[in-house]
Amino acid sequence: MIDVEGVRAGFGAINILWDVSVSARKGELTTIIGPNGAGKTTLLRAIMGLIPLEKGSVRLDGKVLDGTPTWKMPELGMVMIPEGRMIFKDMTIEENLMLGAFSKGHRAGSRRQCDRAYEMFPRLGERRGKLAGTLSGGEAQMLAMSRGLMSDPDVLLIDEPSLGLAPVVVNELFETLARLKSEGRTIILVEQSTHRAVGVADHVYLMQSGKVVLSQRAGDVDMEHLHDLYFAH
Ligand code: ATP
Repeated sequence: MIDVEGVRAGFGAINILWDVSVSARKGELTTIIGPNGAGKTTLLRAIMGLIPLEKGSVRLDGKVLDGTPTWKMPELGMVMIPEGRMIFKDMTIEENLMLGAFSKGHRAGSRRQCDRAYEMFPRLGERRGKLAGTLSGGEAQMLAMSRGLMSDPDVLLIDEPSLGLAPVVVNELFETLARLKSEGRTIILVEQSTHRAVGVADHVYLMQSGKVVLSQRAGDVDMEHLHDLYFAH
């Protein structure tokens, strides 16, 4: 369970998040949607400790995270799969995967986790020795997800995974998200693909200009109302 309470954060003198409160229940998929620049990525970065909090708190299973260094987050069971995938193109697929098991506690199980990734995404297994730069956009996203899964996290923060992917590949991606949820993982998904995100989610937050303007169970969302709010600016 993630609890973000009254978080204010930004970049130096520029404040981006204005008293944002968001919760993600254990084993649920929580989506955060909103237009460009609404602060969705900044919120994920604040949760991961990549930017300091001006105000408010972030808790993981009740434990306050403020001040915890980002590199410790996988040991606490939380990883972020960043927007843009951040794949190292000059390294092989397997080398990219191994980077996801960098901490001492995760190195021992890395071979098993690699094999698990290849089983989930056979295409990565077939190409394990090839440079990651040779992958298509969809395959690169699968690699980014698999790298995040190397530490077998309970909590995944996933930032705009569908960006730039063809519709058929996006379908596969959302099947993967549903599978990760069915494994009992807690997921916070930032998306611009509103329909699909609401379709797979348990809870929906809409952000506008650094604030949460809607918080609803996915089953209660009225898509028309959501769109009106989305385009209100
Ligand atoms: P997108 O869909 O474009 O990623 P977003 O909702 O994730 O949008 P953020 O990336 O969180 O939005 O950006 C929120 C605001 O913060 C934007 O106005 C952006 O220009 C600004 N911003 C982002 N990164 C920085 C930075 N490193 N320094 C200063 N301002 C930044």
